[in-house]
This record gives sequence, C-alpha cells and structure tokens, in this order.
Amino acid sequence: MQYHAFVIKYAEIAVKGKNRGIFEDILTKRVKEALAKCRGNFRVSRVTGRIYVEASDFSLDEVSGALTKVFGINGICPAVCISRDGSGELPSPEKLCEAAVSFMKGAYPELYTKTEEGVSTFKVFVRRVDKTYPVDSMELSAMIGEAILDSCPALKVDVREPEISLHMELRERVNIFSSVIQGPGGMPTGTGGRAMLLLSGGIDSPVAGYSIAKRGVTLEAVYFNAPPYTSDRALQKVVDLASILSSYTGPIKLHVINFTAIQLYIYEQCPHDELTIHMRRYMMRIAQELALKGGCQALVTGESIGQVASQTMESLTCTDSVVDRLPVFRPLIAADKQEIIDRSLMIGTYDTSILPFEDCCTIFVAKHPVTKPRLDVIERHEKLLEDIDRLVAEAIEKEEIRICS
Ligand code: ATP
Ligand code: MG
Repeated sequence: MQYHAFVIKYAEIAVKGKNRGIFEDILTKRVKEALAKCRGNFRVSRVTGRIYVEASDFSLDEVSGALTKVFGINGICPAVCISRDGSGELPSPEKLCEAAVSFMKGAYPELYTKTEEGVSTFKVFVRRVDKTYPVDSMELSAMIGEAILDSCPALKVDVREPEISLHMELRERVNIFSSVIQGPGGMPTGTGGRAMLLLSGGIDSPVAGYSIAKRGVTLEAVYFNAPPYTSDRALQKVVDLASILSSYTGPIKLHVINFTAIQLYIYEQCPHDELTIHMRRYMMRIAQELALKGGCQALVTGESIGQVASQTMESLTCTDSVVDRLPVFRPLIAADKQEIIDRSLMIGTYDTSILPFEDCCTIFVAKHPVTKPRLDVIERHEKLLEDIDRLVAEAIEKEEIRICS
C-alpha cells in the first residue's frame, strides 16, 4: 500500500484555550524534528485540530517509529490523499467511491481473496470540512459503504463496533485513512517547563525521567560517579540511558559530578548504617544547586516507597528536607517494581539499565542500613561533616558536561 501522508491526531492539547496555538506550534516543531531524522521528503502543515504530513520516498516503519516517540501525539494515521483537479474541484462522489474501494483493496488485500460473506466489519466516516461539496456526509458515507460492500463479499457494515473504520475527509484535499498507530500521548516537549533528573544507571530513574518528560517537561540530568570505585563503563551506561531518553525528549544536558571525595568523607565521619541517607541528601543538595543555575523548576528521582531502605517514608523525609527551593517529583513513588520494569522495556531503557556496572551507592552501602532514620539524628550527625561545603563546591566546580543525543 502506497501512502502519501500522515494525519496526526492529538487530544489533550486541543483543549488548551488560548494557549492552543502555542502548543500546536511546538508539536508541529517536534514532528518536524522527528521527521528530519527519517529518510524521505516531508511537508508538515497544521490545520484545525490536526497536523498533516505529506510524504514521499519514505519508509512507513521508520516514520511511524519516529512519530511514536513524539509526546503530544495520540494517533498517527497513514493516509492516501487525492488532490483537487486543475480547476480546484474535489473529486466527484463516484471518484471518491472508487478511491475508497481501491484504498480498501490496498490496505486489506487479504479480505479481497476471501469468498465467505461478512467475515469482517467496517464503517465509513465522512467529514465534509469543505461544506461547498454538493453531497452531504451522510449521503456520501452511504454511497461509499455501498461501493465497498459491492467490491468485497467478505465485508459487512457494523455501525457500532466496526473492525475497520474507513475515514474520508474532504478538506483542501481528500484524505483517506483507516488504521491508527498509537502515539505516546502526553504533552509536546517544551511546553511543561524544565526539570533536573537524578539519573543513576538503574532501572527506575530513566523511567521516572520518561514519565515527567511525557508531560512536556524538558529534561536535564545529573549523575554522581565515584571514580576509581566506579568505572568509565558505568558512566557510559548513564550516557547511553540519557541518549535513549533523548530520542523522546531531544538532547539532554548531563552533569557528571565526581562524588568520590564527598562519599569518602561521609564514610569517615558518619555512622555507616546512615551512609546512604547522608549521600542522598548531598546528591539532592547538589542537584538543587545545578537545577537552580540551569533554570530548572523541579528535581526528579526514581524513588518508590519501600523499594529499598533509603526509600522508606522516614528515609524519604530525610532526603526531601534538604531540598528547600524546588519541588521534588517522584513519578514512580507508588509504582511496583514490575510495573517500572514493564515501562522500561516499553521505552527501551531496560537492557541498558541491567548491565552489571557498579553504582556509587552500591559500593559504599552499609550491610544493615537504617530503615527508619530520624531527621534530628541525621541532622546532628551531619554536623560532623565540617569540611563538606568545600568538597561540595569543588565537586560542582569540576563538573563535566555531556550533551546526550
Ligand atoms: P535507580 O534504578 O533509579 O538507580 P534504585 O532503586 O537503585 O533506583 P536508589 O539507588 O535508592 O534506587 O536511588 C534512588 C534515586 O536516587 C534514583 O532513582 C535516582 O533518581 C537517584 N540516584 C541514586 N543514585 C544516583 C546517582 N549515582 N546519580 C544520580 N542519581 C542517583
Ligand atoms: Mg540506583
């Protein structure tokens, strides 16, 4: 089947009142960026409530693969288009019937080899946006339905739950489409502000980043490593995860912070069963500072209640309390591990996340970490870290930036 276009549907952004135009402009831009990575020629245009992509010399799989990563898109319909004739007229009803039949033959060839009657059901949906067209939608749907029935004994009409919905739109040209490839939904990247993701090499944080990015939020990321205790391969894993995320969000600026001196100092000064809590508090403080410098409006982590000792309510209270100028978003807070794994498989980060490279937290982790830390106790022990501000300032000063795309 040779398609000429894609009709792109979006739902949520269509109801944004006077901001609608801005959202649609950004989505159009994101569609263009996604298509720029595909082979072929594309012309993207915006018409009320829809985005159209006229396309030639393209691969259907490649284009649908790229568009299914654009947040804000609900559905992608590969379409056949018929232009107006030289005098600007749309095709006659008879020609539209012929076009509909040939579309059905092209899209569902298997039905046309069947001799049994009524094995599949369909319904025709006509939208006459150009009201000057001489036949109204109802009448035209009936004519087209009739023509399709005549062409294929295997089909019958079902107006309630059709298996095939054939859409014909009469606009500045005629678009015919039936299948809808599901888009990711959400909001176009760049419409929801900017957030700093604490990205480790695990399964959770990339999924957390995806979830927030899906709401239109532009991501920046920070990774704390601890060379020589953590290797270059562990860093590369995080860079790879950020790159996978960037296929949905656009390029991600990754701050790499050398956390070794801070970790060793905490290890020397604080009770070992509290190590993770103290480390986490410094990660959050540094992340907040980087976020504020970079114009981010929130922090994002992959924490989930009860997953590990550092994610009990009491531990989360201790980590949360150091972030005083930004909200901390934890989109996975109520998700089960299996649900997170399923999402990471869906977004394509799982295989990278499970590569067995050491993380700075796992190296310094205590055998029996506190599960119910008390904030006052943690704060008291933190006072032992007299020299920590200098180490933090140094770590921030020596940050390494990677642009992941
Ligand atoms: P993940 O799969 O995201 O690593 P996890 O279950 O291993 O999560 P923790 O190690 O307790 O959980 O980390 C909780 C959250 O803290 C992570 O989701 C991440 O947002 C942040 N975090 C942990 N370690 C790092 C790190 N080295 N660099 C940046 N962020 C980190
Ligand atoms: Mg981790």
